[in-house]
Amino acid sequence: MVAGCVHINGEFVELEDAKISIFDTGFLHSDVVYDVTTAWQGYIFKLDEHLERFAASCAGFRLTNPYSDAETANILAETTRRAECEDGAFIHMHVTRGEYAENSRDPRLCENQFACYVVPFVWLWGEEKSKAGINIHMAGIERISSKAVDARFKNFHWGDLIQAQYEAYENERDDAALCAADGSLAEGPGFNIWVVKDGVCATPDKNCLLGMSRKSVIELCGMENIPFELRTVHPDELRNADEAFATSSAGGVMPITRVDDKPLGNGAPGILTSQLFDSYWRQREAGWCGTKITDILDS
Ligand code: PLP
Repeated sequence: MVAGCVHINGEFVELEDAKISIFDTGFLHSDVVYDVTTAWQGYIFKLDEHLERFAASCAGFRLTNPYSDAETANILAETTRRAECEDGAFIHMHVTRGEYAENSRDPRLCENQFACYVVPFVWLWGEEKSKAGINIHMAGIERISSKAVDARFKNFHWGDLIQAQYEAYENERDDAALCAADGSLAEGPGFNIWVVKDGVCATPDKNCLLGMSRKSVIELCGMENIPFELRTVHPDELRNADEAFATSSAGGVMPITRVDDKPLGNGAPGILTSQLFDSYWRQREAGWCGTKITDILDS
């Protein structure tokens, strides 16, 4: 039996028993928004902020979570408890549009559906590479326009991201960085991108998800007195960076050590990347921005 637990159709079930209808337009049309947080040492990370972003994604897609924030928090805590991975959990929640009403193609008549699953903590590139660094591919495939699908709303329109991953693999690289239609750096499949030059960190201010780990790094830069900028970032800045890293709930701060095979600096994780990596995990161990799972369940 695989470790984890799912809450779907109002019930807690084992992973292998979690089923979604093929008529749910979440499946048929990717008409779904989601969010991912993590639990570490019994604490769910930035729970209220994740619920706020989830609500904004729902509103942006004209979807309604059938549960209130308090109910959702309780379901996430209970699913995590049942999954028995409070010490290192990957917590995914989504709302799908649901099935069309009979003889109808009107999305307004669908009954929106919530589900969540909790599995052991996921490292985006596997634990070893997520710590040691990856070789990133500058993708030829463009990130879907935010004018078409607003990247601030966390959604399942992953066609561009996945094809960019294939491009990376075909070039024997680990993952991809995508640019927006204006040629500026956007983000990657499941992560935001940071470049470091002359001691200053910078990350794109648009055409990307407002990642919670990106926000955490902004906070950590403040705590560690590291200068940072939110601005348009040119792909050449990634190619010529002193160091670079990705941020994601699935790993926190993860070094990018090569771009299109070319090493950044000496090809090892950079000094500021390592400082932010250490700081992120030190804070997580200390329960930073965490809500205790037992407190949610006792409330
Ligand atoms: N960008 C995209 C497209 C993502 O899918 C994700 C996470 O899944 C991120 C960035 C990173 O966001 P977060 O730090 O909230 O995990």
